[in-house]
Amino acid sequence: MYRITIDREACDGVFACLVRDDRFVEASDGLAAIETDDDQAIAATFDDDRRESAEQAATACPLDAITVENAEPDAPQSQSLGEAKQ
Ligand code: SF4
Repeated sequence: MYRITIDREACDGVFACLVRDDRFVEASDGLAAIETDDDQAIAATFDDDRRESAEQAATACPLDAITVENAEPDAPQSQSLGEAKQ
């Protein structure tokens, strides 16, 4: 189980990330977001075999805006883009 977080203060919309992992998408403000089942998020927890793709995206990001770290099973599922703006 792992958690992906985007530091949107650091992100400048270069989009080196989305060619490594297609869960990264361009949000309406031109910065990166993480596509989850029903939303766009700035942080999301996954339990699948795609951690390596996420880590490649993190490595490719020239601004180190992506963090991939171990997550506890009780970690919140995702923090949506809308929540972040509030
Ligand atoms: S590669 Fe980094 S800076 Fe570029 S869009 Fe993705 S998260 Fe943002």
